[in-house]
Amino acid sequence: MTIDHIQPVSKGGLNTLENLCLACRTCNEYKSDTTEAIDPLTGEIVALFNPRQQNWKEHFQWNNDASQIEGLSPIGRTTVIALRMNNAVIVATRKRWFAIGWHPPD
Ligand SMILES: [Zn+2]
Repeated sequence: MTIDHIQPVSKGGLNTLENLCLACRTCNEYKSDTTEAIDPLTGEIVALFNPRQQNWKEHFQWNNDASQIEGLSPIGRTTVIALRMNNAVIVATRKRWFAIGWHPPD
């Protein structure tokens, strides 16, 4: 895991616990200094998910075999796309984790 600045330092984000979260390296690299992106359903600009202020289960769910994350809200849909949370590598990895009982997390 890497430490992500939810509000990027380049956009005034601070090194405070409220502005930091753990993110896998791939998500962090795709996020970069992004704080918003285009909702794939509506085309509107939407803020990305904030793990310090928002509840994961209100914005995301796992599909049936827990290999893919589905966005339940504009924020969820947009974050899944912006961070490429269902890229081929992680989907294949989740399937292996699922098969041995390591996934999904509680
Ligand atoms: Zn990730």
